[in-house]
Amino acid sequence: MTQNVVFILIDGLRPDAIAKADCPNLRALMARSAYTLCARSVMPSITLPCHMSIFHSVPPERHGIVSNTWVPMARPLPGLIEVANANGVRCAHFYNWEPLRNVNTPENLWMSFCNDTSKMIDGDAITVEVAASMIPRFKPQFSFVYLGTVDTMGHVFGWMNDGYMQQIARVDVELGKLLAALPADTHIVLQSDHGGHDRTHGTEMPEDMLIPWMAAGPGIKSGVALQSPISLLDTAPTIARLLGFKPHPQWEGRVVDEIFSAS
Ligand SMILES: [Zn+2]
Repeated sequence: MTQNVVFILIDGLRPDAIAKADCPNLRALMARSAYTLCARSVMPSITLPCHMSIFHSVPPERHGIVSNTWVPMARPLPGLIEVANANGVRCAHFYNWEPLRNVNTPENLWMSFCNDTSKMIDGDAITVEVAASMIPRFKPQFSFVYLGTVDTMGHVFGWMNDGYMQQIARVDVELGKLLAALPADTHIVLQSDHGGHDRTHGTEMPEDMLIPWMAAGPGIKSGVALQSPISLLDTAPTIARLLGFKPHPQWEGRVVDEIFSAS
């Protein structure tokens, strides 16, 4: 059992951009991860519905948040943060898109830092600066680090265009700083929420639906491409396993068992 998981989400990062962008830190992380470049998002492939699904391990038709305007869950259920907190896990969030405050209910976070800067070209830098300082210092057992600027530049320049690729390169520098600041035994889970095409996303097209998903750290296979289907619903159960508690019975995703080395 481990108690040190950092979950990094790069909004709107397309899996096929990783080989094309100047992102040595992301590629190095992938090289030491169990990973897939064809995990699946949920419909609609939009940030808030996707995040509600990531944190509650149910599809949008179950939680009821189907746009970036938050509404109370249609049929509420405990999410990753609620179950983690109930199991004594100290959870911290570092994010730069304010509506993500709603991925958990009040009184379950131990630490939270929001700066609503995902529309700024260097908007991820301050998030990383704070996370890289606070995580080693205060050692929350679970940290969520959300970086929103790649999605912004996808909307501005178009997915896979030069401005989008350059933003991935910029965020990769920040990713390198964050990874360098973390203790060596940290478990990392990194993914995006959705992809994009032209200047938008939200459809069922593969360009919108396919996402990178990777996990690295002690006891996790290194440099292995996962062959089984993986959904963003599987993130919460897998993080629960890493943190040492059972997934909630209402969660619909599965623990991605095949990331673990035989021991
Ligand atoms: Zn977007």
